[in-house]
Order: sequence, then structure tokens, then C-alpha cells
Amino acid sequence: MIKQKGILFVLSGPSGVGKGTVRKSLFEKDTNLKYSISMTTRAMRQGEEEGVDYFFRSKDEFETMIEEGRMLEYAQYVGNYYGTPKQYVEEMIELGHDVFLEIEVQGALQVKENYPQGVFIFLIPPSLEELKNRIIDRGTETEDLILNRLTEAKNEIEMMDKYDYVVVNDNIEEAVSRVQSIVVSEHCKRERV
Ligand code: 5GP
Repeated sequence: MIKQKGILFVLSGPSGVGKGTVRKSLFEKDTNLKYSISMTTRAMRQGEEEGVDYFFRSKDEFETMIEEGRMLEYAQYVGNYYGTPKQYVEEMIELGHDVFLEIEVQGALQVKENYPQGVFIFLIPPSLEELKNRIIDRGTETEDLILNRLTEAKNEIEMMDKYDYVVVNDNIEEAVSRVQSIVVSEHCKRERV
């Protein structure tokens, strides 16, 4: 079997849809996957850790990364920068590992432009009402921020057609199993002796 490069999977969808939960559960099942830890300028939430959940950086540090061309993609989302450092992703793909990005829509569309061989998966909530309940239940956002996130969500859902796959996150196990099937199927597409 020829040694293949890894595949870049981009899991995207509105804030609160459950991207993090799906990704964490998927990682318990697939050990060849590598998670690309994002960089952000937003404040650390309770329970989060530097270098685990995000690399938390100042606006200046983030803008330097952009200027030096070291971000694969980045976006401004509800007043903060979020982005994917390029080096880790490129190294892992070269080594044959699949890399997972868990990012919002503007960033995903940038990756699609710069790295079209990636696989783009859009996770949607069963309804906008359900999404609102999930953001409220998470309890990390003020009322204003919840409204901002819901407005973003409506815009994001309009971009659904630009993705290779759409997965409804109604039941977490079902959603994870669908994403796992996508990973397997993308490998079968590329398998060569
Ligand atoms: P949160 O503040 O809830 O952690 O993240 C807000 C949004 O930013 C979520 O939709 C999350 O998926 C997205 N996000 C996280 N990391 C990145 C990244 O590296 N790039 C982009 N474009 N979005 C990200």
C-alpha cells in the first residue's frame, strides 16, 4: 500500500450546535485523527486551559501571526479573532495523519478556497429553536452575546450548500457515527495499492 498523506477534515456549523461534543466523542473512537488547536483573542472561559481548548493570545500577537502568513485561516467572530495556525496542520498531513478543524463558517470557506482537497462537513441543529436552547443551557454567554450568536447562526446556515456533507445533530451518537462514516468513506475514495 502506498503511504498516503493525511486528510484535512473541516467540521463547521453554528456556535452551540455541538461541534465540540461531536469532535471529542469522535476522537475517542479514531486514534489516527489529530485535532488542530485554534488560536483566539477571546477571554478564557471557566474550565478552559491554555494549549488544550485554545491558544489564548492578545490581539497584537494574533495580528502578527496573520502578517507573517502563519495562519491557515482566520475570522473575526462576535468581536474576537479565531484562527488555525498553519504549521501543525501541514506537518501532520505530511506525516499521514488526518487533521480535524472545528471552526466557524467564514474560516471554513477560506480553507475551501486555499485547500480544496479538504473535506467539508456542516453540522446543523434540528431547528433554530433547539440551537437557542443549547446556547442558553451552556450558560457561558450573556443575553446580548446569545442574540449575536443566533444572528450569526442564521447567516451561517445559509452557507450549508457549500459543504460536501451535512450532518444533523439531533442525537449525538448518531451524528458521531455519521461523521465516522464520512472519514472512512473519504479514505476509501483515496485508497490505492
Ligand atoms: P467559542 O467562543 O464558542 O469557543 O467559539 C466561537 C466560534 O468560533 C465557534 O463556532 C467555533 O467553532 C469557532 N472557532 C473556533 N476555533 C476557530 C478557528 O480556528 N477558526 C475559525 N474560523 N473559527 C473558529
